[in-house]
Amino acid sequence: MKKLIVYILLFISFFSCAQAVEYPVSDVRVGILTSENPASFKAIFSGTLFVDEEALLFHDAEVVIAANNGELDVIFPEKKLKVNTVRIFPKKDFNLETQFTKRTYTGELRIHAAGKYLHMVLHVPVEQYVRDTTISELGNITYHPQHYLALETAVRSYLFASIDKHKEDGYDVCDLTHCMHFAGNQKVNYNFPDDKYVLLNNDGSYLQAFFHSTCGGNLSSPSVMWPKYKKTTGFRSDKDSISTNEEQIDRNDLCYDSPHYRWSTIFKLNEIKKILNTTNVAELKVNTKENRVTSLTYGNQEISASQFLSRTGKLYGWNRIKSNDFIIKKEKDMFHFYGRGLGHGTGLCQYGSYKLAAEKNFHAEQILKFYYPGSKIKKIQNTTGANKNEK
Ligand SMILES: [Zn+2]
Ligand SMILES: [Zn+2]
Repeated sequence: MKKLIVYILLFISFFSCAQAVEYPVSDVRVGILTSENPASFKAIFSGTLFVDEEALLFHDAEVVIAANNGELDVIFPEKKLKVNTVRIFPKKDFNLETQFTKRTYTGELRIHAAGKYLHMVLHVPVEQYVRDTTISELGNITYHPQHYLALETAVRSYLFASIDKHKEDGYDVCDLTHCMHFAGNQKVNYNFPDDKYVLLNNDGSYLQAFFHSTCGGNLSSPSVMWPKYKKTTGFRSDKDSISTNEEQIDRNDLCYDSPHYRWSTIFKLNEIKKILNTTNVAELKVNTKENRVTSLTYGNQEISASQFLSRTGKLYGWNRIKSNDFIIKKEKDMFHFYGRGLGHGTGLCQYGSYKLAAEKNFHAEQILKFYYPGSKIKKIQNTTGANKNEK
């Protein structure tokens, strides 16, 4: 009898785990080349080109599309059209070239002119977007299936939780790290895992599963970087370590081998004045929460960390101050910044996750439990509602 009850419980729990997860969309609308903002591009493709409502069939075509006073010039080798909208329905992938970028995309591209520039929205099947974004976000980290699976779950969950982030722009997500880095179709030959998961909050909504490159040993809550983020569960705020050995503290950090584990940079007084838009900076002090910088004080003024990082990035490049975890030492007219990690330190630490997978034999589910404690991990049984991405 006892055995029977155990079987019944197992049966029930299997089916509650297997419960279908609804995809909020079947195609993701990605605003592409949103930082370059090109005025024209060349498409190389086979398939259908809709110029306004007229369908034109092409094989290995090269077509230039350019913004012209709120309209589009569509330039073929032998003719030129003036239209309002263009849609490219490629048979499979297509290539796109601008002055600065060359990429391959999968999906349907819709274009119209926004003044002098092009507004380009790519409609990509969800799982294609998730895969391409995960590979883009992997960066230089060696492929490991369990780290990949954990990161892919974070990407999918983050996407589902942020689907209306760019409502006013006419797409779901942009292709920059503002949302997630998406560089089109990534041609790689990995043996991808079959499992698919998504992370949920306790109320069943999707977890906005933040992730980053390197926490430098200091994982923190989302509210440190984004004060308006009220939720307190779902993210690990602690050391990035599974070791209980109190010696060699740094070496215990899972992301110790990351090239971004520690960094330093020097700013001249004039640069700091320009960042703060002030003529007098005697001292620059950091205010912290969970050991990360939330704001900086100079004289009787204060600037939020996100504003300081954004101004510094725009003026002097995004690689000078790599994270919001640093101290400042002033020597004469020089400000020495000594920092830890790359990114905001919230959610999954990629270098840490890789180490858990590659050296500690953690399965993706264990990695996700470690970085997103208190969140629910749902296995997706099928991708109905999303265009299933074939291998
Ligand atoms: Zn965005
Ligand atoms: Zn870490």
